[in-house]
Amino acid sequence: MKAKQFDTHCVHEGQVEDTIYKGAISPIYMATAYSYEETDRYPRYFNTPNQVGLAKKIAALEGAEEGLIFGSGMAAISTALLAFLKAGDHVVLQNDLYGGTTNLVVEHFNQYGIEYSFAEGLTVSGFEKKIKENTKVIYIETPSNPLMKIVDLAAIAQLAKKHQLVSMIDSTFASPVNQNPISFGIDIVLHSATKYLGGHSDILAGAVACSKTHMQKVFAVAKSLGGNLSELSIWLLERSIKTLAIRVRQQNENAQALAEYLLSHPAITAVYYPGLESHPDHALAKQQMHGFTGMMSFEIKPALNRTAFEKALQLIQPVVSLAGVESTITIPAITSHKLLTPEGRAQQGITDQLIRFSVGIEHVEDLKNDLNQALEKATHES
Ligand SMILES: *Cc1c(COP(=O)(O)O)cnc(C)c1O
Repeated sequence: MKAKQFDTHCVHEGQVEDTIYKGAISPIYMATAYSYEETDRYPRYFNTPNQVGLAKKIAALEGAEEGLIFGSGMAAISTALLAFLKAGDHVVLQNDLYGGTTNLVVEHFNQYGIEYSFAEGLTVSGFEKKIKENTKVIYIETPSNPLMKIVDLAAIAQLAKKHQLVSMIDSTFASPVNQNPISFGIDIVLHSATKYLGGHSDILAGAVACSKTHMQKVFAVAKSLGGNLSELSIWLLERSIKTLAIRVRQQNENAQALAEYLLSHPAITAVYYPGLESHPDHALAKQQMHGFTGMMSFEIKPALNRTAFEKALQLIQPVVSLAGVESTITIPAITSHKLLTPEGRAQQGITDQLIRFSVGIEHVEDLKNDLNQALEKATHES
C-alpha cells in the first residue's frame, strides 16, 4: 500500500491493537508495574503501549522519525532545551516567545550555567549576530504570539547547519496541520498539545518530534526529569487527534473569513492574521504553511471601551488558553504579557486595545454576529 496521507494518520497511526476483544479503538493500559521478564517497561520511561502508540502518531504527523509525549508543553520544551544545553553552552532565542519559555530561560538558565541571548528581530541576521563560539541551540516560535509574526524556517535551518547548531521550534500555534518544520530542515519540533492537538480545552500535554539520533538525547533527560503524561490523558489525546485535520481546517477557514470581516469593520484599527495580504509576512507564511491557523489578533479603536466589548460577547468566551473548538479571546496586556512594562509591551506592538482571538469551529455567521453586536455595544458605551 502507498504511504498514507495526513488525515489518515490522524485517525489510525499508532493505534494500540485490541488483540483480545478486537475493539475498533485503542484499549488503555493503566499498569505502572510490568513483568521484568518482558522489558524495562514503566510509564516514566515513556514506553507503555499507549505512550508508544501516540508517539508514533505525532511522529507521522510531523514527518519525523520519532515522537515523545509529555505532561505539558513546558515539560516538552524544558526537557528538549536541557537535553542539548549544558553548563558553559549558549542558546540564541527568538525575542518574542511564549511567556513560560521566556521565564524558564531568564529565571533558571543562570543557575545551570547556561548562557542565552535573544535575537534582534526575526530576520536571519538578527539571529546570526548573536551566535557565539559556545552557541549550541537556536530556538524559534512561529507564528508568534500574539501578533502572528512569521520566521523563515528554511533560512533558520540553514543558519543552524552552517554553525552546527541544533534548531528547535515551538510550532504550537500552527499545529501539524498547518506547518511541518522538519521538511524545511528544522531539527526539533515542539508542541503544547494543550492547544490544537488536544483541541477541546480539557487536556494538558506536550510533544517533541525529531530524528532518532536527537530523540536519544531528549529521552535520556526526559526519563530523569519525569515529565510523562498519564495513560488516561494519552488515550484522550489520541482520541482528540483523530479529528485534528478537520477541526483545524475549519478553524483556518473561519479565521480567514473573520479576519477579512474585521479588517473591513470601522471599529477595528488593525488585524494581525498571516492569511491577509496586508500581513507583512503573508508571502512567507504562504510559502511555508499549509494554512494560516485559527489564531489572530486585532485592535479595537482607542475610543472603544475594551471591557465593555469583552463583556458584551455572548458566544466568544474570554479565557487565557487557546485553540479549542470553542472561540475564545484573551487580552495580552492583562494576561500573557502582563509582566512586561507598558513600554516593553509597546516595543513589541502590544497595546491595551489588542485582542487575541482563537477561532473555533462554530458557524462563522454566528461568530460574525457576536463580534458585531459586541463592537456596537462597546461603541455606545464609550
Ligand atoms: C501554551 C503554550 C505553551 C506551554 O504549554 P503548556 O501545555 O501550557 O505547558 C508553549 N508554547 C506556546 C506557543 C503555547 O501557546
